[in-house]
Amino acid sequence: MSHTTYKNLIGGHWVPSRTGKTFLNINPANSDDIVGEFQASGAADIDDAVAAAAEAYKTWRLVPAPKRAEILYRCGELLAERKESYAREMTREMGKVLSETRGDVQEAIDTAYYMAGEGRRLFGQTTPSELKSKFAMSVRMPVGVVGMIAPWNFPMAIPSWKLFPALVCGNTCVIKPAEDTPLSTFNLVECLAEAGLPPGVVNIVTGFGPDAGAPLVSHPGVRAISFTGSSEVGRIVGQTAAANFKPCSLEMGGKNAMIVLDDANLDLAIEGALWGAFGTTGQRCTATSRIILHKKIAAEFTRKLVARVDALKVGDGLDEHIQMGPQVNQQQIETSIRYCEIAQKEGAKLLTGGSVLEDGVYDKGHFFAPTVFGNVKPNMRIAQEEVFGPVVSLIEVESYEEALEAANGIQYGLSTALYSRDVNKAFQAMRDLEAGITYINAPTIGAEVHLPFGGVKQTGNGHREGGTGALDFYTTWKAVYVDFSDTLQRAQIDNAD
Ligand code: ADP
Repeated sequence: MSHTTYKNLIGGHWVPSRTGKTFLNINPANSDDIVGEFQASGAADIDDAVAAAAEAYKTWRLVPAPKRAEILYRCGELLAERKESYAREMTREMGKVLSETRGDVQEAIDTAYYMAGEGRRLFGQTTPSELKSKFAMSVRMPVGVVGMIAPWNFPMAIPSWKLFPALVCGNTCVIKPAEDTPLSTFNLVECLAEAGLPPGVVNIVTGFGPDAGAPLVSHPGVRAISFTGSSEVGRIVGQTAAANFKPCSLEMGGKNAMIVLDDANLDLAIEGALWGAFGTTGQRCTATSRIILHKKIAAEFTRKLVARVDALKVGDGLDEHIQMGPQVNQQQIETSIRYCEIAQKEGAKLLTGGSVLEDGVYDKGHFFAPTVFGNVKPNMRIAQEEVFGPVVSLIEVESYEEALEAANGIQYGLSTALYSRDVNKAFQAMRDLEAGITYINAPTIGAEVHLPFGGVKQTGNGHREGGTGALDFYTTWKAVYVDFSDTLQRAQIDNAD
């Protein structure tokens, strides 16, 4: 079957990489299906893209924010028109089921509309001056050329979280999509271009992390970096950016706990656990990977959950009947295998799953059985380290306090959930769970675009995507003073008496 070769987008032109090399984007559910061929770029391509973005910045920063916003709004409308075809292409390149890829495109649409609204806000402050006939205000200024490095699990939503706020604030961008899922970024940027985005304002350079991502991070012309991915790579990105005093937003791992207390609606909690643990085949930074169960309900919850997991339909996400798709690539499968071995060696009990699905309909894809471990102790590696696959651990506790200790006893702090009907416990959990996100009676996944998204501890470095937190990252504050007294007035000196 023939396939399309995609080039880099630099300065509004489609250009091949200077390396002369390409790589294939292959459907993780079916290795016969080549989604496309993409440029395996290197540092010289990044140089070209940064130069194009720097040139475009000269004029883009002067476009009034409401006009920039109109382009985002039109982009949102185009995405809505093409939602179905983009969702299908995303399922082909990433694997997750169609209902979820439709959700991924919808998240980009929501972000487009939300950030378009910001074009007429981008509020700063006005405040009185300490001196007579003097005016003081603060305004948001764009940062300049921003470098963006995206992961594969939300191939359109995450680029939209980065691009749309950056654009409405007046920045220009160079984005490097994940090597497994570049097409969805192309689709997003195609809509931006058709919506009227000038050439060079967004540039796409595809390729592998060390070859194309690393030179973007260290490039002196790039003023800020936004990265979403593994903690391992995030550490390298953060250290490189720090060496140049470059603002850097890092969004990394999670080991998200769902606490189920003895007064919880168990059926609701089981629905939540299924969606939280096996949605996106467990490959979300917010996936529910630890379920902390009060001992009074642990046996019933476990029995019912395992029965539901056994009934999950695993297969090609393009089939509407399928509930869980493949893992994105062989490397992820190997990680799942490794952690299943580690868990069993540590004494965890495999309740279901734990193996690769290989035969029949599975023989051309990267499928792993949805997996549940019981008898997990909070300090085991399976309860501490991110698997990023369809593997969930059940931990039994005797009290809310013990549950809280287990939930907080990890290096990560992204998302958490509590199932209980006790309003006091719910408010305690909202206060005490160490995480950027807490859900009450809902699973650990399901962020909305107008709220801050990000985590504490080793999940991130303090920045937030979504909501106004994104504006804080993509702008820098300028304080402006206007003295209309026609005299020299000295702050802290001339108003002393
Ligand atoms: P995952 O394990 O989810 O694939 P990674 O952190 O490996 O997460 O990848 C996230 C993004 O970071 C991808 O776009 C990848 O190409 C990029 N990346 C990987 N290594 C580096 C690096 N050394 N410098 C910059 N970007 C990198």
